[in-house]
Amino acid sequence: MRILIVEDDPVLADGLTRSLRQTDFAVDCVSDGAQADHVLASQNYDLVILDLGLPKIEGFEILRRLRRRGSRVPVLILTARDVLEDRVKGLDLGADDYLTKPFDLPELEARVRALIRRGQSGGSSVLSCGPLTLDTSGRRAMLHGEPIELSARELGVLEALMMRSGRVVNKEQLAEQLYGWDEEVGANAIEVYVHRLRKKVEPGGVSIRTIRGLGYLLEKPGHAPD
Ligand code: CA
Repeated sequence: MRILIVEDDPVLADGLTRSLRQTDFAVDCVSDGAQADHVLASQNYDLVILDLGLPKIEGFEILRRLRRRGSRVPVLILTARDVLEDRVKGLDLGADDYLTKPFDLPELEARVRALIRRGQSGGSSVLSCGPLTLDTSGRRAMLHGEPIELSARELGVLEALMMRSGRVVNKEQLAEQLYGWDEEVGANAIEVYVHRLRKKVEPGGVSIRTIRGLGYLLEKPGHAPD
């Protein structure tokens, strides 16, 4: 079980890290929002403990970007302010639980265990298209039972296509899956990701058709082209 702690108070971060490591979790810790966003876009965790007031990128924005990339990793928000508005905003953005500082470590540990259990039982969803499967919570894709190596953005493109398998997905929908609101999307970035993804899935018989002027269509093997 791997946990990411995002907390800029070094004393609290250290205490949390030690306490959770003793409970046999693998714990990574970052102290600013930009690092957190980067790490969450490239690595898989079973749980994220997220402070709200952070340098560079605030906690709500990290959560917003995480959910926009399609991640369903459980998120426990930590905040110094017990403000109803914050609580509602956090839950609206897809947080799973909320703890107000100061808190007791045993309470945090109990909530962490509960969230991880919940994430394992109900949160997982596996998308499939012929021989291709994608575990959206584990962020893993398999082709004919073999794992395929995908970057976070390739995985995002694949997830968007698989969620709408058999229907055309346009570039705007793909960009939405991949980028935060304030990120510039290069004109051909999506084409590049689709091109790379094609090279990885087409040997297995799954094809990504370009529908000119409309977008892309994921098709399983044996589907007769028009
Ligand atoms: Ca803080």
